[in-house]
Amino acid sequence: STVLLTGANGFVAATILQKLLDRGDTVVGTVRSESKTKYLREQHKAAVNSDKLKFAIVEDITVPGAFDEVLSSYQFDAVLHTSSPFHYNITDIDKELLQPAIQGTTGILDSVHRVAPSVKRVVLTSSFASVVDRSQGDRPGKVYTEADWNPVSDTNREEGLKDVGSGYYASKLLAEQAAWDFMKEKNPSFTLTALCPPMVYGPPEQEVPSMAKLNTSDLDIYGIFNGTDGPHYGVWIWVDVRDLSEAHVRAIDCAAAANQRYIISQGNFDPQMFIDYIWKHYPERAAAKGIDKRNTGKYYPDGGNYGVDTSKSVRDLGLKYTTVDEMLKDTLKKFEELEAEG
Ligand code: NDP
Repeated sequence: STVLLTGANGFVAATILQKLLDRGDTVVGTVRSESKTKYLREQHKAAVNSDKLKFAIVEDITVPGAFDEVLSSYQFDAVLHTSSPFHYNITDIDKELLQPAIQGTTGILDSVHRVAPSVKRVVLTSSFASVVDRSQGDRPGKVYTEADWNPVSDTNREEGLKDVGSGYYASKLLAEQAAWDFMKEKNPSFTLTALCPPMVYGPPEQEVPSMAKLNTSDLDIYGIFNGTDGPHYGVWIWVDVRDLSEAHVRAIDCAAAANQRYIISQGNFDPQMFIDYIWKHYPERAAAKGIDKRNTGKYYPDGGNYGVDTSKSVRDLGLKYTTVDEMLKDTLKKFEELEAEG
């Protein structure tokens, strides 16, 4: 297939890109500036030399028609839209979080509809943020499924402007809703698949110029591994970046995934597991870094917490989920390699 991958330099996209190239696809990756292609060109030299990997610069995804040029320059079969802000270094929530997420999504759908009739499937990287009801907290006994929607949608633009955390949740919810609204209103010739991952962890394959510049989610683990941060509690479910990437790739050709959303998750986790794993497998480092052991072996709130039904993704996309221990083994190894590179 010929695939457009937006935000090709990101954490999730880096692993998607490798999988697409591995299966022989031709990929056009979009990034925001030419300088962001440099690392990718080095990393995938053979693919670049054989024209299996090309790049397009899309400076501002909120501009109407921003994707027209690249979409009309190739005969694409599929579009994977991953680019969306996921960091908390934000001063203007509307401009820096909501607009790129929402207008980036509706903009690319509109461009595909108008100028790229060869596209059969668009896969949107949505989020568990558009599924979970944050007001219910730990919600013991609840099992989230694809039928669940973050219920504050009606008021959410306002809700999302309150603080950056809420802004991120709102950005993902409103973007996915806008995508489904677009599908209903325009009835385009392509079909949509929305993937809703919770916390995504795993080996970073993107450019990491310094450990402080790791992607937002992996910094949760590195902060602990580096002894500079404590555990971040927020979401009780997670997925490995390699499984999420596999889901994107499989969604391209999966007939059952037409106009469906999927929660992509291995299941529950507690950040205490990261601490315990590090103390078990890196005891000297843990001692040297002064990593707080907190409550060894004590996972989840006493009163319980929500879970997730992963059966739809397993049934339709055939995913086999990586365990927390497997993820940590490969991720911490990669962190050490990056540290050694300086
Ligand atoms: P990264 O920050 O590593 O990648 C984000 C990508 O989006 C980068 O290519 C980035 O480009 C691009 N991007 C960010 N802001 C803008 C903007 N304003 N305009 C255009 N492009 C922009 O994050 P992840 O790889 O973790 O995230 C990828 C997707 O997965 C996002 O849609 C995110 O919401 C979703 N997701 C991630 C989760 C996680 O835990 N990691 C959890 C749930 C969903 P640049 O480098 O130029 O900023």
